[in-house]
Amino acid sequence: MGGHSVMLAILSFIAGVSLAHAQEAVPGEYIVKLKSMASPSGVLNKMQGKMSLKGSFPRMNALHVSLKGAANESAAFEDLVNDPDVEYVEPNFILKKSDFNSNEGLGSPAQVFAEGEAQQLEQYSASSVSFSQSGAAVRVVEAWAAESTSTVRPIVAIIDTGLDKTHPVFVNSNATWNNVREIPNNGIDDDYNGYVDDVSGWNFIDNSPNYFDDDGHGTHVAGIIVGTGLNILATPITENAKMRIMALKFLDANGSGTTSNAIRAIYYAANNGAQVINNSWGGGSYSRSLHEALTYAYTNRMFIASAAGNNNKNNDSTSMYPANYDVPSNVSVAATTDYDFLATFSNYGARTVHIASPGLMILSTLPNNRTGTMSGTSMATPFVSGMAALALREAPQLTGYQVKNLMLASVDNIAGLLNKVSTSGRINALNLINQAKAQSSTSATQPSYSPSYQAEVRSSASDATPPTGCGLITAAALRGPGHGGGAADAMNGFGVLAGLMLIPVIVWAVLRQRSLAGAGEDPTSRRRFERFRMDSDIRVMVGNRELVGSLKTISLGGASFCADEALEQGGIITMKISSPNGKDMVEVQGQVVWNEANQSYGVQFAGAERGTLAMIQQWTKGLMKA
Ligand code: CA
Repeated sequence: MGGHSVMLAILSFIAGVSLAHAQEAVPGEYIVKLKSMASPSGVLNKMQGKMSLKGSFPRMNALHVSLKGAANESAAFEDLVNDPDVEYVEPNFILKKSDFNSNEGLGSPAQVFAEGEAQQLEQYSASSVSFSQSGAAVRVVEAWAAESTSTVRPIVAIIDTGLDKTHPVFVNSNATWNNVREIPNNGIDDDYNGYVDDVSGWNFIDNSPNYFDDDGHGTHVAGIIVGTGLNILATPITENAKMRIMALKFLDANGSGTTSNAIRAIYYAANNGAQVINNSWGGGSYSRSLHEALTYAYTNRMFIASAAGNNNKNNDSTSMYPANYDVPSNVSVAATTDYDFLATFSNYGARTVHIASPGLMILSTLPNNRTGTMSGTSMATPFVSGMAALALREAPQLTGYQVKNLMLASVDNIAGLLNKVSTSGRINALNLINQAKAQSSTSATQPSYSPSYQAEVRSSASDATPPTGCGLITAAALRGPGHGGGAADAMNGFGVLAGLMLIPVIVWAVLRQRSLAGAGEDPTSRRRFERFRMDSDIRVMVGNRELVGSLKTISLGGASFCADEALEQGGIITMKISSPNGKDMVEVQGQVVWNEANQSYGVQFAGAERGTLAMIQQWTKGLMKA
């Protein structure tokens, strides 16, 4: 079995999961990805009379179309799917805001206060310097005090229901981003970015510069980001806010939006200077196009914070997107209470959810000069994205990936979060700012990322067989970085299981050395390689820890090995592989993926260098085929 089919086995499983939790989509609308050599006009010509164009994504070579006008919609759909110029077709899924109130049908927000009213209540009085999460030692006040006099104001894109930029909190702190290259109201796209008069954000629903918040969710999120936990209502920020907020409206007055508009907003954020993306929304269906858009944000070095969701579900087994995309700079955020308990509504996941942040009864801004409390992972997420902006203010050269690692390494470990989030921790603002200040002269780095898109292997799933391993386990838990991993921790829950049993780890490289003259994005054009038995040590760096495992098989397409400790889903590891004679060693970076069906980990190479591959090829001469 080649490494490629190992990959297929794993990916086809994931594709199955996404199908099992299919969510609502816009009737008749699809996102159509064209092969790299195909032209949109060619596809449009072939589909004339059966398909109308709703929009296009030039950087993705993808179209947003409707088949509503077709005489036979399902026949038109088949034509589209079978078009040799088409790489994939997926529904235009509907995504929803992630606040608890709306999911419960209670309407949102939970409590609303008129101007000045909240300040009169004891719990939100002027004597309180932080929002309602003061019971949790997030150390916001100390973090703000520790900040340097940096004048850098990172841009945070709030992809949400819009913003009431006239709220005094934002006016007094000059918080909204201004597109200085655009002249207001002249009807001209002055900066040639594709949007006319986009002076401070955009409304992707009606394609206008008016992103007024007709729901309240986005304005609430924005207040949390600008204050990142400080009580900006009792003690208004009168100087410039420490970050700028870019309002990108794609959720409507009901808190619903489409994947096509989410993609547009992500590209807008990436192309117009934002360094941080806040995603307080999501859905259960895997969308490859949304995955591609966030991968684009990653290549632009952005930090991404995504709400884990409010269904009290385990995201390790029930996917939530965008939180579950393994884009290396994406942080999936759970919500905790004032006293560091996981909020009853919050999703969790020892592998897929990274960090917790306060998200219960958070007081923040609402449209029309009001304030109010809201609960949800939607409220926990902006705290994380706001903190990322403050970290970037101290070390603006860092990539989002580096900020994520600093953030995950600076959490406070909370016993109740063990097996709930990968770090077992809740955000600590002071630790993060101190860590960021220490990184002010660190070079920007991030691993290359080759996404394991799920849709592309569905048609090839039949040739996939489960990988052979080193024994199966039924459950595993991560002992998070900095958590100690001592005997007491190992005895807790599944830690001991993971320690005693061997975990098969399948490693493969996705080789994307396809020439332009080749078959474009067609996965069948990929090279396949024979696997060979190989008995040597493999050392895996997970953060600062080094694990030693034994290599079982290897090919140019990948390798499998056993390790005696659980690895973090989505985490980047560095692998050092010894040659059979022990004389040579190669080093490759990869990203950990969990395969539920086979209860095993996979590591997808983030990008192996040619020299590394040549060396592996040299080693495999004279080895036995597996
Ligand atoms: Ca413009």
